[in-house]
Amino acid sequence: MKHSPAAVFARLSNPSPPAVTPVVLDTAVVLGGSIAGLLAARVFSDHAATVIVIDRDDPGTGTDPRAGAPQATQMHSLLPSGLVQLERWFPGFTEQALAAGARAAPPSGRRFYFEGVRRAGGSQAMMLTGSRPFLEAQIRRHALSLPNVKTTTARVTGLEFGEGAVAGVRYESGGQEGVERADFVMDAMGRSSRLSEWLAQAGWERPAVRRIRVDLNYATALLRREDGDPEINGVLALRSPARSADVAGAALTQVEGARWMIGMAGYADGQPGRTAEDLVRRCKTEFPREFGQVAGNEILGEVRSFRHADSLRRDFHGLTRMPARLAVMGDAVASTNPVYGQGMASAALQASCLSEYLRSDADLSRPAREFFALQKVVVDAVWGIATGADLALPHIDEPYPRGYRLLRWINSQVRAASFLDPEIARQLEEVTWMLKHPSSLAAPGTVIRAVRANRRARTRAPAHPVTSTTHG
Ligand SMILES: Cc1cc2nc3c(=O)[nH]c(=O)nc-3n(C[C@H](O)[C@H](O)[C@H](O)COP(=O)(O)OP(=O)(O)OC[C@H]3O[C@@H](n4cnc5c(N)ncnc54)[C@H](O)[C@@H]3O)c2cc1C
Repeated sequence: MKHSPAAVFARLSNPSPPAVTPVVLDTAVVLGGSIAGLLAARVFSDHAATVIVIDRDDPGTGTDPRAGAPQATQMHSLLPSGLVQLERWFPGFTEQALAAGARAAPPSGRRFYFEGVRRAGGSQAMMLTGSRPFLEAQIRRHALSLPNVKTTTARVTGLEFGEGAVAGVRYESGGQEGVERADFVMDAMGRSSRLSEWLAQAGWERPAVRRIRVDLNYATALLRREDGDPEINGVLALRSPARSADVAGAALTQVEGARWMIGMAGYADGQPGRTAEDLVRRCKTEFPREFGQVAGNEILGEVRSFRHADSLRRDFHGLTRMPARLAVMGDAVASTNPVYGQGMASAALQASCLSEYLRSDADLSRPAREFFALQKVVVDAVWGIATGADLALPHIDEPYPRGYRLLRWINSQVRAASFLDPEIARQLEEVTWMLKHPSSLAAPGTVIRAVRANRRARTRAPAHPVTSTTHG
């Protein structure tokens, strides 16, 4: 029997480590040792005698941003589903991350604002915060403590094929070229992965690519955390794209090393917060008071900016001709508008896909279609949430996909109602935090409840900034 995407998503979200993990591979090679690659390595460690992670950067043991992950200077939130999966793959992860300096973000310290209006209620899920390099370093420490996982610092330059399957990985290191033999290869080289070109050069099919323009500008600053600062962690304040001239939103979290991190974003020509002066002024005048309470603290180092041009998706699941013993994970498959904070949680759920595939007695002499079918459920969910909201932005003029207007209407009803009804707020957060499949928001009971809440509110206050607008 074919299972619905919601049922598959629920299965992949399992918080418990798998009980039975057959060893079916001699050597698994993971290309890219960032979040997705390290999680792939963890899953392979159950199923391969040896796991080799190849990355062009030598991250050492430090927690500084590195060249191979340039986005790491920017604000990163780990969605609760990502934390659940990290705990699944590395039991004790949360406790050890907290001991190493991560910050707990309990529901009592979290805030969500839209146009200055605070949402009450929401999910009670556990969250923790830290900088992106810090979170990656925690994952790396766990992954590399596994006895059969090794790392190599080298630039991957191509693949070797034989008998319809991937047979090895070509690399270059210190001017020397080499080949690593492999029984299975996972590409986790991020958005800039050249796997599609390598497949085409070797006569295989190239995956279709989807792009949705985003034109997002990020700026992130670190500030000293001081005694007497407010007891908050995880504040997100969004502005209505239709009303705000050049700023889409700002976020505030505590990070390791007694610091705050403030991120600010704008679309198209909007580049808010690029200088310390602009960031501080906006925190004090354009955002809820929590931002102003912290923005006067000492700024540590420079404000760092980043431009994200588009959401990108490579449809490996649609290939009719591809080699066996090859899979792709993380941003190499889909990298969406980062304001939704989905990338790391998505990579973690894709690790579940790999685990289910390797536990399924799949025929490894055939392309890993079952893996890509599972992954499609996760990526469809992520892509739908991100691009569904982005298509409504005033500066985006991409064509709407089929069924978009109805989904958009449901979405705007649920979002508006989430400010009026704590139960709707909980359901919405569980979807945006990837704990539940997005289809749960379209359940008739949820939609009717949301429409009724909005109708009641409009009757009472027709000019309310939240219920009188639809927003993403
Ligand atoms: C501005 C911004 C903000 C973001 N905010 C969030 C957020 O709040 N929450 C969230 O969950 N996600 C966020 N993301 C997304 C997140 O950074 C990624 O989804 C996540 O890091 C997973 O990426 P990855 O491991 O697939 O790839 P990457 O992190 O890009 O890593 C790819 C790895 O491959 C290596 N590599 C590449 N090519 C080669 C080669 N030829 N040979 C050897 N190694 C190679 C690189 O060195 C790197 O280590 C954000 C992204 C951006 C751009």
